Amino acid sequence: MTAIRITGGAIHDPANEIDGEVRDLCLDGGKVVADVGPDARRIDARGMVVMPGGVDIHAHIAGPKVNAARRLSPDDRRDDPLDRTAILRSGTGGLVPSTFATGYRYSLLGYTTVIEAAAPPLAARHVLAELRDTPMIDKAFLILMGNNQVLFELIRESRGAVSSRLRDAIAWWLEATGGYGVKLVNPGGVELWKQDNGYIESIDDHVAGFEVTPRQVLEAIGGAVDELGLPHPVHIHANNLGTAGNADTTLETMRTLSGRQTHFAHLQFHCYGGKPGGQPRSRAPELLDHLSAHPEITADVGQVMFGPAMTMTADAHVSELLRDLTHGKWINHDTEVETGCGIVPYTYRAGNYVHALQWGIGLELFLLGKDPWQVMLSTDHPNGGSFLSYPKLIRLLMDRAYREDQMGRASQKAIRRTALPDGLDREYTLNEIAIITRAAPARRLGLRDKGHLGVGADADVTVYNDRDDREEMFATPRYVIKGGEVAVDDGDLRRVDDGLLLSSTAAFDPEVSDVLAPLFGERYTVAFEHYPVHDPVLREPAQIVEASK
Ligand SMILES: [Zn+2]
Repeated sequence: MTAIRITGGAIHDPANEIDGEVRDLCLDGGKVVADVGPDARRIDARGMVVMPGGVDIHAHIAGPKVNAARRLSPDDRRDDPLDRTAILRSGTGGLVPSTFATGYRYSLLGYTTVIEAAAPPLAARHVLAELRDTPMIDKAFLILMGNNQVLFELIRESRGAVSSRLRDAIAWWLEATGGYGVKLVNPGGVELWKQDNGYIESIDDHVAGFEVTPRQVLEAIGGAVDELGLPHPVHIHANNLGTAGNADTTLETMRTLSGRQTHFAHLQFHCYGGKPGGQPRSRAPELLDHLSAHPEITADVGQVMFGPAMTMTADAHVSELLRDLTHGKWINHDTEVETGCGIVPYTYRAGNYVHALQWGIGLELFLLGKDPWQVMLSTDHPNGGSFLSYPKLIRLLMDRAYREDQMGRASQKAIRRTALPDGLDREYTLNEIAIITRAAPARRLGLRDKGHLGVGADADVTVYNDRDDREEMFATPRYVIKGGEVAVDDGDLRRVDDGLLLSSTAAFDPEVSDVLAPLFGERYTVAFEHYPVHDPVLREPAQIVEASK
């Protein structure tokens, strides 16, 4: 591994309060170092912008739902083949690229770490196999725990309180799967829908057959994750996604976990006013006020981008509603007793009131939010649009004239119902972009060596030409350095890196197996002893981040 000195670039490293300072950056042994010797390779970055590698806190890139979406959309991928080269594998692109293409394209975009945000723990083998096949990026996955019948039994037993048994069970599950964090999707609501197409109206509704409520699931699992001190707090896709009036549910969910560290996924889909069944309107400003008063809460936006998307969610009820709107192809799949899944190809149209409102609400969250450390960039790839649309989204945030042009093409009835026409003249700075695309996600994931460029940080660095057209700038980094090696040079992948699997671990009482085994025996088709993934090919090597408590 050769040492590298990047000279003369403007460094944007908000975690270390560096905002465009022109100075050298030195890399050696896969880390940022204070200095390197005269033999180091020099990269001339004069006139360029230097940032840590991008960190995507919420995307869907691996596992059974992603694979099913690939099978559902051959038409989308047929026109976007990737040829094999001396160093690259073949693959297909489109909204749901093949594993290799996913890694290559994230790297070409300057991203070096990506989180798969919703993996059924029962499918951990599949998720791990696909992540191992996704090169260039470091990666981790969050395991779905909000509709697990075994956990419901433990929550019923503790009457919704955090119990040591529940903490032990969560830590056991992370150990069994190699997962990094805990995801709750429509807690209780997916189980209810799987039973008889039921759905949650209030987070105090009972989940039939289990005597637990979504509020209890939130308190018990969210509390347990907080008490375990996992590197990433509980990651929540709240109940009632996408329905008019769901801002009440979102606020109530936030209040339920008040004082606990929490991350809310794709907040844009959870910010709606209006009456259930009626037309939504924006309540983003109210949600942002709540965030301002609660620094323990963070969110990613889940921006929708006009054009094609692929919705894929553990929230099977939402998929059913989208299927009813599109009358097109869909997949529904129950993963035994732990989660559901639905997939529906979708198109967001600028002239459609609801789609334009969703687009506008996402931009409100970015532009009205006071603290960029709290509101991070995502499109919930590929739900709101592909990760390949991030450069366009960055331009919408940095370039007011461009944004106003795009607003002019969208449903005016919808745009008028957002704050966008009210002289919202904010333009993100490069440092603010660095916060929402790398510094804040890395910090929130508890990845101490990522998202910044201080001495000791991982040598994951993206160097951009400083172009007026911010979309072009962020779509085509000049250099991407991964783990201290040049991965991308002038738009070409030069070196293939396997990337690291990141897992987290917390101590637990191994006797929790005596509690879980009989519950598994009653409910799963898979024997308890076969559920954990032991295969070293899938599990190792991994970088293990230990819980802090
Ligand atoms: Zn998602």
